Amino acid sequence: MTTTEPEIVTYEQRGAVALVTMNRPSYRNAQNSAMTYALDDAFYRAAADDSVKVIVLAGSGEHFSAGHDIGTPGRDVDESFERRSGLWWDHVGKEGVDSRFARESEVYLGMCRRWRELPKPTIAMVQGACIAGGLMLAWCCDLIVAADDAFFADPVVRMGIPGVEYFAHPWVMGPRFAKEFLFTGDRVYADRALSLGMVNRVVSRQELEHSVFELADRIAQMPRLGLALTKKAVNQAEDQMGLRAGMDSVFGLHHAAHAHNAEVGGGSLAGHDARSMKDASDG
Ligand code: ZN
Repeated sequence: MTTTEPEIVTYEQRGAVALVTMNRPSYRNAQNSAMTYALDDAFYRAAADDSVKVIVLAGSGEHFSAGHDIGTPGRDVDESFERRSGLWWDHVGKEGVDSRFARESEVYLGMCRRWRELPKPTIAMVQGACIAGGLMLAWCCDLIVAADDAFFADPVVRMGIPGVEYFAHPWVMGPRFAKEFLFTGDRVYADRALSLGMVNRVVSRQELEHSVFELADRIAQMPRLGLALTKKAVNQAEDQMGLRAGMDSVFGLHHAAHAHNAEVGGGSLAGHDARSMKDASDG
């Protein structure tokens, strides 16, 4: 069934650049499934439109994304959606791993992989918080341009879980720092992320949109097929460096952790919700 609330993701074209914007600013763009499928609609549209050369992914308001929706009134984990990333069955009406693995394979790992393979360059335009599930959205884009107030964190080890589902950490920030990032759950600010090679550019908040569109417009001068093949070349190289196989293996550990949490009580998130996670990181 479909899914898309009309305003949860907005789509705008400026010249050869499509701007796809997550639009739940009052929840810091927490990603529920309705947003996931609306993003997928937007990316599909941009991919299919020959007049679009480059896609910018943005978050409205003060923050790019606080992560997966684990506590807003719009949380929709028990709803069915028309699956797109694979043929695995619907999670609704199943129990335990049978449900959780199906759901996360589809809406988290599967969707992020699908978007990473979109055959046009994508740029994440990141301001404010980019936390946990928010990282996945930024990381599956080709380039990341961050405002100087942007910060990144993956605090899910606090839930006993070894990182978010799209486990790109060792590839995007190097294995040594990935451990510190995960072990502490601490925020990494834009300038540090730049020094780690995790983002392409850091600019002031005021300049962010202008800088991103200037970059997107330059890329848009290149031929479409050349860009698509180049993107695929680098993605294939990254996969040869173990990204895809590594993610598959860690996805199993991730689900062992969810299952452990559920088995010992407290639910798959070890009793945490959005508020307790925010309190822990603020404290
Ligand atoms: Zn998970």
